[in-house]
Amino acid sequence: MKVADNIRYVSTRGNDDAVSSAQAIIQGLAPDKGLYVPTEIPKLSFKFTSMRGVAYRDIAYKVMRSFFTDFSLEELHKCTAGAYDEKFDTPLIAPIAHTSEAEFLELYHGRTAAFKDMALSILPYLLIAALRKERVDSTIAILTATSGDTGKAALEGFADVTGTEIIVFYPKRGVSEIQRMQMVTQRGKNTHVYGIQGNFDDAQRGVKDIFSDREFEKALAARGYRLSSANSINIGRLVPQVAYYIAAYVRLIENGRIKNGDKINLVVPTGNFGNILAGWYASKMGLPVNKLICASNENNVLTDFINTGVYDANRKFVTTSSPSMDILISSNLERLLWHLSGGDSQEIKTYMKNLERDGKYRLKPDTRAAIDEMFYGGYASTRTVHQTITKLWNEEHYLVDTHTAVGYKVYMDYKIKTGDDTPTLIASTASAYKFADKVAACLGLPKEEDGFAYINAIKKKTGVPIPEGLRRLDKKAVLHNLNVKPADMIRAVDYVLK
Ligand SMILES: *Cc1c(COP(=O)(O)O)cnc(C)c1O
Repeated sequence: MKVADNIRYVSTRGNDDAVSSAQAIIQGLAPDKGLYVPTEIPKLSFKFTSMRGVAYRDIAYKVMRSFFTDFSLEELHKCTAGAYDEKFDTPLIAPIAHTSEAEFLELYHGRTAAFKDMALSILPYLLIAALRKERVDSTIAILTATSGDTGKAALEGFADVTGTEIIVFYPKRGVSEIQRMQMVTQRGKNTHVYGIQGNFDDAQRGVKDIFSDREFEKALAARGYRLSSANSINIGRLVPQVAYYIAAYVRLIENGRIKNGDKINLVVPTGNFGNILAGWYASKMGLPVNKLICASNENNVLTDFINTGVYDANRKFVTTSSPSMDILISSNLERLLWHLSGGDSQEIKTYMKNLERDGKYRLKPDTRAAIDEMFYGGYASTRTVHQTITKLWNEEHYLVDTHTAVGYKVYMDYKIKTGDDTPTLIASTASAYKFADKVAACLGLPKEEDGFAYINAIKKKTGVPIPEGLRRLDKKAVLHNLNVKPADMIRAVDYVLK
């Protein structure tokens, strides 16, 4: 059985034919380097109140079937049931905690202790189902650029999945020690991990270049391989993320934190703009959202963009204590602009051409006004982020990681500036233990030998359980220790896919 309305996917840059969601998921990036977008954003197929008491996976299923209309209901059931199970350390999957000021949507209860698990635990299921539907029999090679968390979540999701190889590129000096250890100790004979001498933007650019290399594509096809992506440029990453905002709203009603119909603000610590875009999609589906608050660290290109309408990546790249947000080129913004421009791919192509040529572009007035209406942009310095972690622990006994703290700080600034007291949901994107050295310092703990000692010290002080995936990480063997220059990424892929 299929649902009635058929949603198709087109490239933001408009040069290719519309495809089904299965094809878009297999493809990852569109052939013209654009991103796949749904031609229409479906409305929610249910009332929030009718979802009270319904399990996370069933809400996710309902959201996904509105977008992935070419999948059968049985296929989608299998995907959601396979993904949202005991891999998560709570049956709630994404529980909500609250402090005196805000609700925290904890998205880090999956295997790798960051929100990337919410989508990457289901993407392999979606991809396998898509391959079967489209009768693709090539081996799929997943290329992934990571700012720290996507890499491990993708490795964990795809390890030993038949018919796939997974290759991850991470910035050698741009991830936390724990993040690096999680990746380089990954088991699975189809897993490949490379450090690159560069930052996340270099890794992402390298991956996009490999995707659009037609010669290389042909060579790989002759060997039986096809490339796809586990980054949020893949629509199969984005749609599962829409589900948790919807599910969170249901939980807030259940817990009596809001009444059905109340508006809420969403605060999202942002890097590649995937998570916050999912929040925007949720609002277009019918989630009552007042403001989408885009929180950045010192790499505040998005703050300036939202406030001025000019995207200007010509600035110093800063290495902060929230490495998963150390990004200057936020890919998913392209999708938002496509939607806000009314699907004007000519406009998008001009922006992206200017971005590539000059590192900047200026929005047309209408598009800028549309951003202004929905979004607020702010950023927090590393120093204030650390003060925030200290304060939240001391005053509320709530432990947050460096990324979530960026969100909370920007929200507190927003509240002072605007006086807005709309109930607010903050996307809590990682476990504090992933950034143990920084968090330990915020808690006033002494210097230690390594990341693992910090983990134990935080546990001792706070009593917050250590995520299963981070326990005994120091005892695991390092299985990946290769490094490449960004320019040699393609050679690494060529070598792996011999
Ligand atoms: C990936 C990540 C972010 C940024 O999310 P985007 O979807 O790239 O904007 C924020 N915090 C953490 C912990 C992350 O892993």
